[in-house]
Amino acid sequence: MEWIQRKYILLLSNTLERFTERNGAFNFRCPLCGDSKKNKSKARGYFLKRNGKYHYMCHNCEENRTVDNFLKELNPMLFQEYKLEVMKEFSQQNNTIFGDSLPDVPVIPKPVMLGSKPLKELKAISQLHQDHKAAKYIWGRAIPANLHYKIFYVENGYEWARKWLPEKFTLEWKGKDPRVVLPLVGADNKCYGAIARSIGANVNQRYLKLNWANETGFVYGLDAIDKEDKVYVMEGQFDSLFIPNSIAVGSMAFDLVKQHLPEENTVIVLDNEPRSKFTVNQMKKAVDKGYKVCVWPSHIKEKDINDMILSGIPAHDLKVIIDTNTHSGLKAKLAISAWQII
Ligand SMILES: [Zn+2]
Repeated sequence: MEWIQRKYILLLSNTLERFTERNGAFNFRCPLCGDSKKNKSKARGYFLKRNGKYHYMCHNCEENRTVDNFLKELNPMLFQEYKLEVMKEFSQQNNTIFGDSLPDVPVIPKPVMLGSKPLKELKAISQLHQDHKAAKYIWGRAIPANLHYKIFYVENGYEWARKWLPEKFTLEWKGKDPRVVLPLVGADNKCYGAIARSIGANVNQRYLKLNWANETGFVYGLDAIDKEDKVYVMEGQFDSLFIPNSIAVGSMAFDLVKQHLPEENTVIVLDNEPRSKFTVNQMKKAVDKGYKVCVWPSHIKEKDINDMILSGIPAHDLKVIIDTNTHSGLKAKLAISAWQII
């Protein structure tokens, strides 16, 4: 069970201050006592390995916790996932003893919204071993760990797509087609489709777009936004996972945006492609339609938000950059003219 414990400690790690791993132990500021108030660099909470299990202790408040209790206290939802994963692992290990008589332990309790059939047969990234190629891919893109339960993995993507939408996917696919799957969930928490992005090499169709109902029209992230607040509209699905209250529409389709969001409180954040005539025109079009647009400042060189994150810009700073470079109307037009290189 050690690797599962390790995995969940790492999943929690983005909420733990000064988190480091050294010699097989984890060290961070104790969230139970808050550690030293005066010295922000003090970190006296430890997960130490003992008899193949991790155990928490703090040298400041002297509290002890099992991994179970630590997770339960700090993130009850993650704890539920953890418990089920441990049960599942246990049942797999014991299958040889119990044979087929052991009832199937439910996999992760997928949120109701993700319960549609095509996704039920897939595993979430949060359920995969850290060495799995899809887990490595998602970690490699620095997708926040608390969102890994919303991303799925499929070994033979095209085959899977064909199974559920045979009228759309009619080809015979040779060989494996590993993909990560991003469910398209509406504001009503129902899943209307999915985007399956290839993580293999040399693939003709990098994205497979599945729609088993037409509600969202391939808009990603409608389940996670508050329309009363400012909403950011991006091109890339991954990009939208870094900035709160964002959706992604793939290639920009303003009719689609209009269908889901009012113009006033919507910011269009296109990729940073000042040399692309198409992108520049799309931005101008957005301004004409009454949207606010983000015009990237010239010191940003990366092409999209995910690349900016990977280059070391923290998500919080990126949000500030977007907000301070958001314009509308004439001001937006002038900013676009200064930004474009065509
Ligand atoms: Zn403590």
